[in-house]
Amino acid sequence: MSDPHELKVLNPATEEVVATVPAAGAQDVDAAVARAVRAQTGWAALAPADRARQLRRFADVVDARIEELALLEVREAGHTLGNARWEAGNARDLLLYSAGGTERLLGRQIPAPGGWDVTFHEPLGVIGVIAPWNFPMPIAAWGSFPALAAGNAVLLKPAETTPLTALRLAELAREAGLPEHLFQVLPGHGHTAGRALVDHPDVAKIVFTGSSRTGREVMERCARLVKPVTLELGGKSPNVVFADADLTSALDPFSFLDNSGQDCCARTRILVQETVFEEAWDFLADALAAVVVGDPADERTQMGPLISRQQLDRVRTYVPDDIPALRGSAPGGPGFWFPPTVLTGERDDSRAAREEIFGPVAVLLPFTDEEDAVRLANDTPYGLSGSVWTRDVGRALRVSQAVRAGNLSVNSHASVRYWTPFGGFKQSGLGRELGPDALSAFTETKNVFISTEGPAL
Ligand code: NAD
Repeated sequence: MSDPHELKVLNPATEEVVATVPAAGAQDVDAAVARAVRAQTGWAALAPADRARQLRRFADVVDARIEELALLEVREAGHTLGNARWEAGNARDLLLYSAGGTERLLGRQIPAPGGWDVTFHEPLGVIGVIAPWNFPMPIAAWGSFPALAAGNAVLLKPAETTPLTALRLAELAREAGLPEHLFQVLPGHGHTAGRALVDHPDVAKIVFTGSSRTGREVMERCARLVKPVTLELGGKSPNVVFADADLTSALDPFSFLDNSGQDCCARTRILVQETVFEEAWDFLADALAAVVVGDPADERTQMGPLISRQQLDRVRTYVPDDIPALRGSAPGGPGFWFPPTVLTGERDDSRAAREEIFGPVAVLLPFTDEEDAVRLANDTPYGLSGSVWTRDVGRALRVSQAVRAGNLSVNSHASVRYWTPFGGFKQSGLGRELGPDALSAFTETKNVFISTEGPAL
């Protein structure tokens, strides 16, 4: 039986225990909120330029520790070294970008008869950030850093399996001189620490990233307190490949294998125009066989393990041994390994074609024409990401407008930039992170009217 008061962090490539971390309970959350409320008051009173300077110093400290943070992410999450370095760099870059926003949180002056009308963006107070295990460091950063820049304190609850990079980031914040208790990390279980954060009346907003199922519960609990919430939830994103596309780029297997498919933006529905369907099939068969799966700490590795035994078992339920599929290889022995897989015998209404598998598994489906492609792309309760591949500019524009998803790429598989907005349509979420408006999501707009016509009677 596992001890509910501690979190055992396993290396997913070896199943060895990397660390044991005390799990925060509801009382720890209460105490942390009280400390954060006090820290936030002083932080919000600082001049924007001073907040910016402190965040830039934090970025410098992160920059000096990129390799250390990356190696921690490899050990606790099984990410490949290249990916983990990118993730630590993403946290640094977002700190710098957010620091630039402190002095640009501009209000407006609105014409009003009899006086002046101005708006202010005031910090909300204490923000609760609840993160998943699939990208522990970037997702912690996306919720936390713009919130800090806008003058808030942050309580971050990382996922049970991956608390280490979050804890290290909080230490680095202190090393950089950020005020004590301004950015606290509360490792713990969702149903205790997570719920306590959501239910706490002094936590002004929740930023939740995780499954749609938990997201629904978080939203319901926030509704009881009329607490604003940002939800970044699941995905089942289409990769729409027309016959005129550059097939080599369009069918890049890392569009769904990156991070072993544990990516909310993974293009796991490969929709290919029927005239090039066989060609696509052959290409994918060769591409999967060539993927190097193994030790994530080895620079040559392209794909690592899944996060946990539980996730491995879940993925297996979608891929019985006798199912028609193209398959790559994966190591045996300890670790949570699953081979790159494309299911070829699915219907568009099958479980594997509709549900988020969150492993290195995609389905390959044909479409006839543009209308059919759009129908298939939209035939999902999710709407996070997607790609459209064609050399026809008009068609690229039409399809991008018709597909209901928050982050689309034409002739590209890139979804995430810290300077562009990110978030989902439909059951993929609510609200946006990143981009030029990221700080505003952590403020309340106050309107003040100042009469120029003397004292009110
Ligand atoms: P999850 O919903 O199980 O857990 C996410 C977080 O919520 C964890 O920290 C967990 O401890 C916490 N939690 C669990 N129950 C809770 C509760 N009742 N109250 C408060 N907090 C609770 O998700 P997961 O399995 O860790 O992550 C995978 C999911 O995250 C996938 O569905 C993936 O698509 C999604 N995701 C979405 C995005 C996005 O930006 N849209 C990004 C990454 C991951």
